[in-house]
Amino acid sequence: MKIDLKSMTFIELEDMIISLGEKKFRAAQIYPNIFKGIKSIEEINNIPKALKEKLSNLVYISKCEIYQKLESKIDDTKKYLLELEDKNVVEAVLMKYKHGYSICISSQVGCKMGCSFCASTIDGLVRNITASEMISQIITVQTDIGDRISNVVIMGSGEPLDNYENLIKFLEVVHQPLGLNIGYRHITVSTCGIVPKIYELAALDIPVNLAISLHETDSDKRLLIMPVEKAYNMESVIKAAKYYADTTKRRVTFEFAVIKDINDTRESAIKLAKLLRGIMCHVNIIPVNPVKETGYKRPDEDSLRLFQKVLTEENINATIRREMGKDINGACGQLRRSVAE
Ligand code: SAH
Repeated sequence: MKIDLKSMTFIELEDMIISLGEKKFRAAQIYPNIFKGIKSIEEINNIPKALKEKLSNLVYISKCEIYQKLESKIDDTKKYLLELEDKNVVEAVLMKYKHGYSICISSQVGCKMGCSFCASTIDGLVRNITASEMISQIITVQTDIGDRISNVVIMGSGEPLDNYENLIKFLEVVHQPLGLNIGYRHITVSTCGIVPKIYELAALDIPVNLAISLHETDSDKRLLIMPVEKAYNMESVIKAAKYYADTTKRRVTFEFAVIKDINDTRESAIKLAKLLRGIMCHVNIIPVNPVKETGYKRPDEDSLRLFQKVLTEENINATIRREMGKDINGACGQLRRSVAE
């Protein structure tokens, strides 16, 4: 089995080069090429042909092609449907901020978590996305726009902590200085709360941002919209999040999708503030995005603002998430595997 170059750290490539009886410096010549969107070893122009041939026996560059690109007319958001080597299509969303480009990538084709408000899980889990395919999503979009992407959020389809090994490998590769060079502080991993993996991630002690999808303030109610509550209840999720913040010294984000007539009340906000007291955190209030199948309604502007006001008064930092790419189904929970309707 050949190794996909996009899944290798610099040291791994260096070791391989040495094992081929080649000079170490060749690795530094080769490595940056991988992240510039080249499609084959043939395209590496700064090494001898003989070395390319030797390398070709051991490694390859996997395909990731733009299947479709949708550009928002409301903002600068672009949604990419990317076709992987095995023809599965995954989504990545590019957002432009004052501080640069941010990309939301997918960690699984489909998802098995079953959150009732989310489109990504409707057809279940198809397969995990490999580390190199996560890297590919960034390279492909970066090459398309001809500009650097500086931030990554793993909030596309899939549950990253349900694909832990690939996630960790991805994190290692994405911050290689001679590669994409994206610092851990510029990366956010979003999870519905796979508790043991939160502890494992904390133990790595890397300053990656963690976002927790909470969405309810009562275990019974959370269970109605998030089946994962059954395996890992809210209390244990919040405890793990606090541990993560204490260990990594990174402020944890709690995502709270506000759904009309479900959790859009003042009482919800008060309870949330109580639950999060003493945790170095921030709440991201997300007006739920409609997904055809769910029937959930967007909350009124007033209840959103009230939600934020209550949290702020309780000294919990809270912002209402700007919805980006709404017209191209690029917003949270609207990503799904199928090609755009
Ligand atoms: N599985 C991970 C990451 C993917 S979802 C997680 O659960 O965090 C990214 C975020 O979008 C999560 O907070 C998720 O709950 C939220 N989300 C999903 N569907 C949504 C919808 N219809 N409206 C608003 N947010 C949604």
